[in-house]
Amino acid sequence: MITIDGSEGEGGGQVVRNACALSLVTGQPFRITNARGKREKPGLMRQHVTAIEAACAIGGATCEGVAVGAANFSFTPGKVVPGEYRFAVGTAGSTGLVLQTLLMPLLLADAPSRLVLEGGTHNMLAPPLEFVAKAFVPVLRRMGAQVDLRLVRHGFYPRGGGRIEVDIRPGALTPIDCVDRGDLRAVSATALFAALPDNVAERELATVRRLLPEWPDAAFAVRQLPDEQGPGNVLLLEAEFEHGIEIVSGFGKLGVSAEALAKTAARRMAGFLTSDAFAGPYLADQLLLPFALAGGGSFTTVKPSQHALTACDIIARFTGRRWAFEQQPNGCHLAQEAIG
Ligand code: AMP
Repeated sequence: MITIDGSEGEGGGQVVRNACALSLVTGQPFRITNARGKREKPGLMRQHVTAIEAACAIGGATCEGVAVGAANFSFTPGKVVPGEYRFAVGTAGSTGLVLQTLLMPLLLADAPSRLVLEGGTHNMLAPPLEFVAKAFVPVLRRMGAQVDLRLVRHGFYPRGGGRIEVDIRPGALTPIDCVDRGDLRAVSATALFAALPDNVAERELATVRRLLPEWPDAAFAVRQLPDEQGPGNVLLLEAEFEHGIEIVSGFGKLGVSAEALAKTAARRMAGFLTSDAFAGPYLADQLLLPFALAGGGSFTTVKPSQHALTACDIIARFTGRRWAFEQQPNGCHLAQEAIG
């Protein structure tokens, strides 16, 4: 039994999700103490409980101690059974993060699966659906994975009610190298909103135009969603390169002005554009699991985040193989399996 102190490293939900995925893939049981120990409200939240229960359902696994607020639980994997599954978070908790838990075990199974996930699709501190579909999944496709993702309905905090559908056809993952991102091909800034004054979206785009003055007029778009999907707002800044896409997002939140949110997002995008990195900080922590399970390959990123370093630790606990980041002369960091 692998025992993990969930307050170590980044100390959040990603430890829980990666442990479930790795346990299902490697067949090793684990126990987590102090789950989400570094978060303001430690312990499992509804979305983590849903992710663990979903992992049990697809993986013939059993768990003990899993409940909202629980700090300690254990997980014993069984055999992954591909098929059709529907999981509802029940709150606005992120569907993208439930998918993070289930995708690798189902990709490495022996028959196709279809997932319907309900909850939030555009949440703070989680990958928005566009990020999963355009930044993350295309890298998996280059590794040979067949994954299709559809957004059926948006779900914003606090209302939730979103729905995504995912088709997964299994196959081995091939190691690839994502070192150069290639030339910049297109950029876009889209402000999505539902059941909010439309000047919110306009103000966000005006701020991005001011901070990214070289972006062409045609890159800017406002997208109004049906009122019943709101209230909600997200700003998505997209940079498409020859070999990959980065999406920086800003989530509307009570008490944070449209200008402030857009300024943070635009600055983060400007920083990424001046680097030479293939993967932004979020994509980097999410790529480690598929790359490690492919058994090799490499990618460049900006400075590794605490999420990324913690993902390396959890991967090493289950696979005995250590991934590490090494700074390159151009300032990027190269992620690859450490030799020896
Ligand atoms: P945790 O905070 O441990 O629950 O993990 C959050 C996960 O969501 C990590 O895998 C992050 O990479 C991912 N994430 C958080 N915010 C974003 C974002 N704005 N875009 C893409 N991924 C995100």
